[in-house]
Amino acid sequence: MDISGMVDEEVQKVVRVKKGKDFYEEMSEQGSIVRMGLNENMLVDRGFAGTLLQEAARRVDARKYPVPKGGLALKAIAERLGVWEDQVVVGNGSDEILDLIAKVFIGGGEALIVEPTFEMYRFYVGLSRGKAKSVMMTESFEMKADDVISSVTNETRAIFICSPNNPTGKQFSKDQVLRVVEESGKLVILDEAYADFAPYSLVTESTKYENLLVLRTFSKAFGLAGLRIGFGVGNSEIASWLRSAQSPFSVNIMAQEATRLVLENQRIYDTFVKQVIEERKYLKAELEMVNGVRAVDSDANFILFRVIGKDFTSVEVAKRLKEAGIEIRDRGTLPLLGNCLRVTVSTRENNLKFVKELKKAIGGPK
Ligand code: PMP
Repeated sequence: MDISGMVDEEVQKVVRVKKGKDFYEEMSEQGSIVRMGLNENMLVDRGFAGTLLQEAARRVDARKYPVPKGGLALKAIAERLGVWEDQVVVGNGSDEILDLIAKVFIGGGEALIVEPTFEMYRFYVGLSRGKAKSVMMTESFEMKADDVISSVTNETRAIFICSPNNPTGKQFSKDQVLRVVEESGKLVILDEAYADFAPYSLVTESTKYENLLVLRTFSKAFGLAGLRIGFGVGNSEIASWLRSAQSPFSVNIMAQEATRLVLENQRIYDTFVKQVIEERKYLKAELEMVNGVRAVDSDANFILFRVIGKDFTSVEVAKRLKEAGIEIRDRGTLPLLGNCLRVTVSTRENNLKFVKELKKAIGGPK
């Protein structure tokens, strides 16, 4: 039977069934490898995180379904931010919210995406039968509001902006972001997955606007990537539509309870975030001293760097590092990012190991 022939044509344009494993599958299998490719936060103290999860496990009764729509976590998030519960949507990772946005707001319409950026926007837009249209940032990785606004058409259903942007690392200027919100006349999705490591966030201000939803996650600053919890804050009608389209039990009981506990202990996380920022500074300085590498300033928990003046590409560098037991992300195929790689800021031990192996990989045999 030709199963592939049964797959919806639009889905076939977005999804491929590959023979080999993809990057995510490979990474989840490699127990011993130093993981610096997924922007996980290894600076959250493992002992502390473990105790917190034990306490969450003690509190939950997993025989019961969770509170629907992440309601327990939602209440804690709304209280912490000082916004109405109606203005919040909680998802199984912010990924689930991106998926919901595509289904509810994009459908078969058009989405503007400020690129190069997180590839999942395009993925979900494609799966919802929508069209993704790129607006390129500048060579110095700034977003120009004028470029975004002038790309808006009648077909545009929403604009995706990631700030700090993955994988470039820079946070866009607040003025430029707010200009897009105020002047585009369209729904703006501002993905602030990495804003805890950056100078500002629009998460609480977002509720002042009719057309803005800010996305945040517990996967990065709070080190809960494995539990899957993220949220959106903004206009209550936007949030309510997304909640209404969400499957009731997608946010599990442990993730919800852990969210409550994390928010009760937020001060401790502030110290982990400070450590990430210090390590980022250290890693950037180290990268700057590596011959043949140019690193970009970052407001996130990763750094983008370019390999220059070599007769091999970023693919080769990633491969050599992998052979040395370190996984980082080659980003060289994205527009504007020829020969660029992205490395997650990790513990001092991992960062040192990475720099040592990078020097070997770059200076090594051609
Ligand atoms: N947005 C961006 C920009 C990301 O980099 C990521 C994770 N890599 C996500 C969203 C998804 O995060 P979550 O773990 O909350 O699904």
